Amino acid sequence: MQTPAPNDAPEGSNEKLETLIQEALRSGVTAAAVVSTVDITVDPKLAGMCYEPRCEAYGQSMSCPPHVSGPDGFRKRLKRFRRAVFFKIDVPSELLFSSDRREVFQLLHEMAAGIEHQAAAMGFHDARAYAGGSCKQIFCHDKPGCRVVAGRGPCRHPQSARQSMSGFGIDVAGLVRRAGWRERLVTDADTPPSDRMTPVYGLVLVY
Ligand code: SF4
Repeated sequence: MQTPAPNDAPEGSNEKLETLIQEALRSGVTAAAVVSTVDITVDPKLAGMCYEPRCEAYGQSMSCPPHVSGPDGFRKRLKRFRRAVFFKIDVPSELLFSSDRREVFQLLHEMAAGIEHQAAAMGFHDARAYAGGSCKQIFCHDKPGCRVVAGRGPCRHPQSARQSMSGFGIDVAGLVRRAGWRERLVTDADTPPSDRMTPVYGLVLVY
């Protein structure tokens, strides 16, 4: 099914977006907001951080540069969408910087994919989710390589693994401002280390 032209909001779309937000909150995300796609900006400088200094995940999966379409490809895709759901999960900082980090990002991918699946079930068949972190390091860390990059078949985790926002240069900080979330810094001196939280973010283009 083709994505409707930007001026053709599907019938009942506002109510469906509200349902998506409520379901996302019920599934455990800390906060979620509907954003207009005109408020999503991409910055090639942000995408460049995958290259310089080169991320250790660079080139390791189909979800990261140079195997993704980058800022230009994302801008083109954005033109086909009007609304998106931006969400965050607040994670204890100690967990994020521990050996459990992989599970945290796995949860982020699964939540993003879950919102995408629910949007599709509501009729938004072209919904597309983005998360953070390398799916190679998250889902295929114990495998020799990405099956898709190696040309040996489809993705091993199509239900959960999603592309990282980083490789497209998506301005996450700008989305945080748009959503009106006031994030506490991980270095907040007033908060005991054990109580410090760090947010991780996901984005789902809906229609
Ligand atoms: S096969 Fe593994 S590394 Fe490759 S795209 Fe899928 S989850 Fe990512």
